[in-house]
Amino acid sequence: MRPTTGWAADGATGTLRRGPVERRDLRADDLAVRIDYCGVCHTDLHALEGYDGKAGRLLVPGHEFTGVVTATGPDVSGFTVGDRVAVGNIVDSCGGCAMCRAGQENFCHDFPTLTYGGTDRRDGSPTLGGYAREYVVRDRFAHRLPAGLDPAGAAPLLCAGVTVWEPLRALGVGPGSRVAVAGLGGLGHLAVKMAVALGATTSVISRSPDKADDARRLGAHDLVVSGDADRMAAARDRFDVVIDTISAPHDLAPYLRLVAMDGTLSQVGYIGPVTVETIDLLVGRKKLSSAGSGGLPATAAMLDFCAAHGITADIELLPSSQVNEALERLRRNDVRYRFVLDMADLD
Ligand code: NAP
Ligand code: ZN
Repeated sequence: MRPTTGWAADGATGTLRRGPVERRDLRADDLAVRIDYCGVCHTDLHALEGYDGKAGRLLVPGHEFTGVVTATGPDVSGFTVGDRVAVGNIVDSCGGCAMCRAGQENFCHDFPTLTYGGTDRRDGSPTLGGYAREYVVRDRFAHRLPAGLDPAGAAPLLCAGVTVWEPLRALGVGPGSRVAVAGLGGLGHLAVKMAVALGATTSVISRSPDKADDARRLGAHDLVVSGDADRMAAARDRFDVVIDTISAPHDLAPYLRLVAMDGTLSQVGYIGPVTVETIDLLVGRKKLSSAGSGGLPATAAMLDFCAAHGITADIELLPSSQVNEALERLRRNDVRYRFVLDMADLD
């Protein structure tokens, strides 16, 4: 095994503690990556909230990181030591099902191997995430980080970014599209930047009026406060695509009302049961959709697009020793707009 250091959940207290993390020895098609920067995703918070340690598995969160290749297995031909790479929330898939063959490894019928909280499909070991100094990843699932992308600001592209990129692309967003992004957080602010760069007229729907200036700075046309009934009524049927990144369960009806005829509400934030009045879909022939993460080709295309348009996340960079503070502030919605942990203090 390859020993490294990381931040693991203490099931009893819900906090993360610094400690040893073991990585597997390199397989023939593996890379060892020195993790320099790892984003703090709201999913990490959900995972920690659901973790009590009783299943006897360690939880090390973190599934959007960038770093440098430090070693390669003998069959690796696409990367060499010193390459800048980026890894997202999927680190393996079956490779043979229709989804994998279509380049949608994120929807693998045999379930993709998650970067943390998953099970390695070859040796059955639990996967431990990127809040650590090193990760060992199958070469296919590492992405080359394009030159020009700041590695700290780029880390959140690998989960938050690609999760909103795929639905924006799949729903045909481009010049002339009218897009709304609900929830201006990690996913939301990248959705705004990407939709704007794709040529869409973009609005933000937020419960936070104090984010209006930021929304405009990000390129949005306006910010509609979700608690303002008059503004919400005025925005009825206004958007071809609504990307809903809200992290908590909520009523979809007010957001479906914003969708134009034949338009789509893509709910990517809260993953769980929802209740929908079909009349809210019937009137206007509206569609309800979802998405999650990205396939390998879409992730590579997203990175190229971001490099071409100068898109990275707006981050607050913290030493990894402040991970618990970052998570607590994320819980309180006190983030503009992504925390990224600098892992150098783990040496
Ligand atoms: P985040 O940075 O905390 O942003 C979430 C935003 O949602 C907040 O900034 C806030 O925006 C809004 N919000 C939060 N609680 C709300 C509530 N009770 N009612 C209304 N609005 C609320 O989180 P994130 O990292 O972007 O993640 C967002 C969600 O996406 C999480 O649930 C995460 O688990 C999920 N996620 C899904 C995937 C996937 O594969 N589908 C991937 C990554 C993350 P305003 O202040 O603007 O209202
Ligand atoms: Zn995530």
